[in-house]
Amino acid sequence: MKNIAIMGCTGSIGRQTIEVISSLGPEYRVVAMAAGKDDKQMAGQIAKINPEVAAIYNSDAAERLTNNLKPDSYDIRSGPEGQLAVATWPSADLVVMAQVGFSGLEPLIAALKEGKMIALANKESLVTGGEIIERLGLLKQERILPIDSEHSAIRQCLESTSPGEINKIYLTASGGPFYGWKKADLKKVTPVMAIKHPNWKMGYKISVDSATMINKGLEVMEAKWLFGLDLKQIEVVIHRQSVIHSMVEYIDGSILAQLGLPDMRLPIQYALTYPERRKSGFERFNPIGRNLSFEEPDWINFPGLELAYRAARMGGTMPTVFNGANEISVEQFLARKINFTDIPTVIDAAMREHTPIDKPEICDIIDADNWSRLKSAEFIASLQRKVN
Ligand code: MG
Repeated sequence: MKNIAIMGCTGSIGRQTIEVISSLGPEYRVVAMAAGKDDKQMAGQIAKINPEVAAIYNSDAAERLTNNLKPDSYDIRSGPEGQLAVATWPSADLVVMAQVGFSGLEPLIAALKEGKMIALANKESLVTGGEIIERLGLLKQERILPIDSEHSAIRQCLESTSPGEINKIYLTASGGPFYGWKKADLKKVTPVMAIKHPNWKMGYKISVDSATMINKGLEVMEAKWLFGLDLKQIEVVIHRQSVIHSMVEYIDGSILAQLGLPDMRLPIQYALTYPERRKSGFERFNPIGRNLSFEEPDWINFPGLELAYRAARMGGTMPTVFNGANEISVEQFLARKINFTDIPTVIDAAMREHTPIDKPEICDIIDADNWSRLKSAEFIASLQRKVN
């Protein structure tokens, strides 16, 4: 029997997690679930799943949810306390972290402190808090199972090897919807264009991050913490077909890769059933007649990737500033307040004004995140963009 808590249950990963759990049969049970503000969808999920506890962050949404459901039959909570209650729910063995953005950090630390197994889809929490989580002695590879497809691939390639045997890893990147585009054309990209990914169906934030290549930058930082690697050991390679999800090169020169069709249910199921593998009905990759290609990323037209490496090299609070500036920029781009190409410009501006704090505490990370959001908003206001 595996009891599961899901953070971010109404998002793309949350919904697919529920789907995978129901296909796995009665030994897998959702006991706790948390969402941000989508009370309508959550009401349906709660009525179907009947968890021991449900939490929704937004207070208006929590009120609507309580009015909508019979409040005496369900334990419904709200605010940050509600999120923490779900992340640390006593009967849950494994917590799926599928929230969007920096808000995933505190629930992740709380769940790790409670000794929970983690299935991690929220990369921003490791990007910003990786250093602290390591210092707290909570960064244990056997406790944190990645759901991110690239990291799941690496994890699968690493089964039964020791860390000293890894030479480097290749994180594959599809190149996103604007592969091959130059800056002049990228300037004209609209939100509708940016959220259409050629290979993956995902939420808005991660779709924009994929289009700017910043998602890959966040994944570089995520990989550094998850697998205890040096940045020099992490290489990004463009692989348009999204069939090889990542590769590990060993010290003897042998390279192992994990392949499959782009379907998030596969890494979700691997994390849920680990250390076992279970039969699935997912469509299979047929290699016959397929060509797989590999190229160098375009560092010039997609400067967000280089900024991510720079933030990671500087460390301390800099990755948090990188992440906060990106979250604000994506939000403002989706609201049509800035251009697509302004996103890395805003991040660069915030990073240039920040002096990173070494060995940050959690309060330094929260301060750096707030500072970065404010600075980025100020910078965006100074741009005075007229976006159609
Ligand atoms: Mg990924």
